[in-house]
Amino acid sequence: MRIAIIGAGAAGLAALRHSLQEQHSCEVFEQTGSIGGTWNYTDEIGTDHFGLPVHSSMYQGLRTNLPKELMQFEDFPFRSPERSYVGQSDVLRYIKDYAEQFRLMSYIKFFTTVVRVSPLEHGRWSLDVKDLKLGSIETKTFDAVFVCVGNYKTPFLPAFKGVETFRGATIHSHSFRKTAPFADKRVLIVGSGPSGLDIARLINTVAKKVILSHRSPWNPLNVLPEEILKKPEIREFKEHSVVFNDGTEEDIDNVVFCTGYLYSFPFLSDECKIQVEDKWVKYLYKQIININHPTMAFIGIPYQIFPFVIFGIQVRFFLAYLSGKFTASKNDMMGDLTIYMNQRRDRGIPDSKAHMLSLDQGDYMDDLAATANIQKVPHVFIKMYKYVHSDGKGKMDLSYRIVDENEFEILKNSKIDNYLRV
Ligand code: FAD
Repeated sequence: MRIAIIGAGAAGLAALRHSLQEQHSCEVFEQTGSIGGTWNYTDEIGTDHFGLPVHSSMYQGLRTNLPKELMQFEDFPFRSPERSYVGQSDVLRYIKDYAEQFRLMSYIKFFTTVVRVSPLEHGRWSLDVKDLKLGSIETKTFDAVFVCVGNYKTPFLPAFKGVETFRGATIHSHSFRKTAPFADKRVLIVGSGPSGLDIARLINTVAKKVILSHRSPWNPLNVLPEEILKKPEIREFKEHSVVFNDGTEEDIDNVVFCTGYLYSFPFLSDECKIQVEDKWVKYLYKQIININHPTMAFIGIPYQIFPFVIFGIQVRFFLAYLSGKFTASKNDMMGDLTIYMNQRRDRGIPDSKAHMLSLDQGDYMDDLAATANIQKVPHVFIKMYKYVHSDGKGKMDLSYRIVDENEFEILKNSKIDNYLRV
């Protein structure tokens, strides 16, 4: 088959590696000049050299929120550095090593953005591909499409009362790059997701005062330095201050909104029949296959996951479907989705969290393997995830090592002679 892969981040590279292994003919379109997507740091914010929205949300000093052992592709160990919680350049190096190991680079067309995707007859696809350097657009046809464009590029900014009257500087975490502009400032961080916690930790090293506004008391807050003031949700902004839901008011110079991202696929034509409603990408089979046009797959839609492992099995699942190793009719797929959503509704999970997996990701991956009759992901990954996920306090000081497909070791302070096998 002729397969198009949109995006050369970790998801696109996993799609390429497995598609090549199954002897498909592949072309990858990447709008920037490098592989690794999110893991490329750039000083740029707003629009890039070609007038496109800057893709990466990477900032200086990022520390991964998962141990590297959970960030590796299934079949390519992440060995160095020895410590588990690594930095941006370590992850980028690992992704580049993966591309080199599986000889992926020659299939990637850089500075090439996909501007439109439309279905053709018989499950085929038409892609309008723009060469950013020449400005020319070429139309190409394919038998199948992988959409691997990442989900941390379109900021979500909730409406806050009075925010337009606030005189200080505000940014979304998408545009946060370094701590220097926050030196000696009183900074409000809004949101306690991984970015909110990590950016609060970083800004705290230079700011006069850091205040974190968050929705619920959440264990990982314990990992933040005590001097960071924790506040409930925002009631309203004033010119130079913010009032919180507990009635307290704080003077603020800068705000960083770590309020998350929206799914967006501006290049998909209406005929693709993909809609995003309240953070739910409709309608996908097993969060991967476009139910209305099943020769299109989305890799990496679920969140609160260990991404690279999930990318691998999602890709293998779609390739098994394409090659007819299993079949599912449109009715089967819609039926499966309805059962999935109803089960989650019964558990009180709102539709807006349709793609949040967290502790469900072990069952999710086992279901993919069973449905497509493909190799399972070793249970050691979910076992380790559960361990590092529960009561995050202190876990980021530890290092880990995967022993076999069921066991991992905790290496205290990275000293191999002082371990606890789990
Ligand atoms: P991306 O890496 O975003 O790659 C998508 C690629 O598609 C980009 O290269 C982009 O240029 C390209 N593209 C987009 N649109 C087009 C188009 N129309 N045409 C051509 N090319 C296009 N995960 C972890 O496991 N641990 C962490 O600690 C962690 N920290 C994170 C910190 C931040 C700040 C962010 C934003 C994310 C973090 N993540 C982390 C999640 C991270 O997104 C995943 O690890 C993973 O890198 C996502 O890979 P991806 O390929 O899906 O997307």
